[in-house]
Amino acid sequence: MSKLKHSTPPQVDPIDALLTAHGLRKTATGRLVLGWFLAHPETSYTHAQLLSALTDDVSMDLDRVTLYRLIDRLTQVGLVLCRVDVKRVRRFQAMPASVHAIPHFECQSCHRDSPLAGALKANANDLERAAQNALEALKSLGYQGLSMDFAVRGVCADCANTAAE
Ligand SMILES: [Zn+2]
Repeated sequence: MSKLKHSTPPQVDPIDALLTAHGLRKTATGRLVLGWFLAHPETSYTHAQLLSALTDDVSMDLDRVTLYRLIDRLTQVGLVLCRVDVKRVRRFQAMPASVHAIPHFECQSCHRDSPLAGALKANANDLERAAQNALEALKSLGYQGLSMDFAVRGVCADCANTAAE
């Protein structure tokens, strides 16, 4: 009779798994940065904002160049979404795993970045479906490595109200 040990398999850290799956090394900085993006999925950060947020959060000396390179790598492999805001500053945000494009709104006044799902309700689903269909159509034509940026820019209702007062 064989004695099989029923030990529980070692828990794979989801962050590590993502890094490995995308061909990235599991460095402390890699874990930290990807972990931060995933923990703040609805916030987009500039390079500088991310550096200061991370530096405040951990007692780890972060090298600016290493961090910027890492963000570039995360963007290249599609784990992080890069957008350019109205001031032509690059902003980075965790890439949602299930969707290629989240319709979102960028306020030019307060620079808040919010998903449009809440404001548009059912219409947001139509937008997302249209985006998905477009991506599928391109894929079937042989296009590869697709991503889509779906942003509506303007002044949000909060800012518009404040300005009107
Ligand atoms: Zn605003």
